[in-house]
Amino acid sequence: MDNNLDWSALGFNYRKTDVNARYTFTEGKWSEMVITDDEYIKMHMSASCLHYGIELFEGLKAFRGVDGKVRLFRVRDNVERLRASAERLCLPVPTVEMVVDACIEVVKRNERHIPPYGSGASLYLRPIMFGTTAGLGVRPAKDALLIVYCSPVGAYFKEGIKPISVAIDREQDRAAPRGTGDVKVGGNYASSLLSGEHARKLGYSNVIYLDAAEHKYIEECGAANFFGIKEGKYITPKSNSVLPSITNKSLRQLARDMGLEVEDRKIPVEELATFEECGACGTAAIISPIGKIFDMQTNVVYDYGMKVGEKSLALYNKLQDIQHGRAEDKHGWCTIVL
Ligand SMILES: *Cc1c(COP(=O)(O)O)cnc(C)c1O
Repeated sequence: MDNNLDWSALGFNYRKTDVNARYTFTEGKWSEMVITDDEYIKMHMSASCLHYGIELFEGLKAFRGVDGKVRLFRVRDNVERLRASAERLCLPVPTVEMVVDACIEVVKRNERHIPPYGSGASLYLRPIMFGTTAGLGVRPAKDALLIVYCSPVGAYFKEGIKPISVAIDREQDRAAPRGTGDVKVGGNYASSLLSGEHARKLGYSNVIYLDAAEHKYIEECGAANFFGIKEGKYITPKSNSVLPSITNKSLRQLARDMGLEVEDRKIPVEELATFEECGACGTAAIISPIGKIFDMQTNVVYDYGMKVGEKSLALYNKLQDIQHGRAEDKHGWCTIVL
């Protein structure tokens, strides 16, 4: 255990750990897994990832449980999504086993960096993959590097789960209807920065993006999925430009388990006025309850009050209980690594 560290003070920042795992793809085949303590990569200045954004990533967490065991949450789902992203970018597609093995190996070999139970902190895993072929033309990469590294990260809500204010922006879109919004690729985030900064300057913590074709329907909230709750229903946007969040998938299941009905469908902006609760969801925070939504173009305000909704809180607690071994893992989401 890294005894000199104040785990509860950690933020969401990169912190050096002992090792990372790598695979290289070249001449049509993957290398064996290589474990290294090197934090740097050497590549050609003409590498395809640097010029044409041939890059993808994933984010998942390992938790130290109440029983002392270390659980990796839904690793296979993250790896399946990584494979879908690779396919979309014409990168070589690694096998599920390759990436799952790398994640497990990275957790095991960095055991002393796994935050203790009760600190609210966790070990965040960041698989990344990118094209490394040197060249000038726009064409698929023939060579790639896949790295899985990790970093301990702090609890998202240091003083308990708390609602955020967000703003609807129609001036910039996150993703085109048949673009790359449904895969976790770097370009999506580069193009979202400017609207995010604009919202933050106005005092909002994030942007709600609408569908790019009509600007009528809710898509995502920053780099998180959106959900609303009303009349015993958990409702979340259906769109082919929304990233399929594994947290949202888990919350939908837990909502069903709690007796809520689940609807995957288009959510018109005006429907925001009818929700009892709404929130953003993703690995980082599980749920960020939304207290207020401001529409920057129409000046309409949707106000949910600055307290956390009862159903959102129940879902948030339930998922955390499973991740920390306090509740039965009925759906088989956790891989016990240590
Ligand atoms: C990563 C991400 C999410 C959340 O996905 P999880 O698997 O729940 O972490 C949602 N939206 C976007 C745009 C993302 O990049």
